[in-house]
Amino acid sequence: MRFDIMTLFPDLVDRVLSESIIGRAQKSGACTVKTFNIRDYSDDKRHRVDDTPYGGGMGMLMAAPPIYNCYRAVLDDQLKDGFDGRRHVVYLSPAGRVLTQSVAQELADKYDNLILLCGHYEGVDRRIVEEIADEEISLGDFVLTGGEIPACVLVDCVARLTDGVLSAAECYENESIASGLLEYPQYTRPVEWHGMKVPDVLLSGDHKKIDEWRHEAALELTRRQRPDLLPPDEDKPQG
Ligand code: SAM
Repeated sequence: MRFDIMTLFPDLVDRVLSESIIGRAQKSGACTVKTFNIRDYSDDKRHRVDDTPYGGGMGMLMAAPPIYNCYRAVLDDQLKDGFDGRRHVVYLSPAGRVLTQSVAQELADKYDNLILLCGHYEGVDRRIVEEIADEEISLGDFVLTGGEIPACVLVDCVARLTDGVLSAAECYENESIASGLLEYPQYTRPVEWHGMKVPDVLLSGDHKKIDEWRHEAALELTRRQRPDLLPPDEDKPQG
């Protein structure tokens, strides 16, 4: 999977995505993340990228031309790299479809490339969204100062669903949400800590019993903390 991120703050995005699992995946070639500084594509001699909104109002709006030039540069870069995969252009926006695990899975299944536009200030001129974006995606019902953090979140959760990014040990299949339930509680050494002991069944070596315990524990946790996730026949409170 290739990610191209159009932003005014490429260092912020690079810092986040060059660490840990996504950083390692980039080094191994399992995914590619490229950042493009929209300011580099401004025709203005002072590299301005924003202006006041027509009709008045507070704040500054990112103008369409530098973003469009940046988008063309992304396409040129893909051509130069010989990349010709299934492409999807996303504007990170509080007005978009809310990101969930199933949205991330859909993007990972359908596309080889996400081109992400990060807004800042009061957002972007609407015409650039109409011109280049296939959809808008939101991190949730709150407003952030910029699209960089949402872009990093989107890259992280889509990349980890693509082949070669996670090792078997980091496999996501039993995880919260992906499995349809919250994940069962997990424990590591020491066996007893601050008066709390690891459940005996996990020390028993009986894998059938361990699987049953984990399923029950996942159900119980989901009933308590996220009953909205339960299938209709599992959502009755127990006891
Ligand atoms: N004036 C815009 C509005 O009311 O919809 C909000 C602009 S916000 C301050 C600046 C930028 O942050 C947006 O252009 C978008 O890229 C990003 N952003 C803010 N909240 C977001 C969210 N919940 N999800 C995704 N992106 C968000």
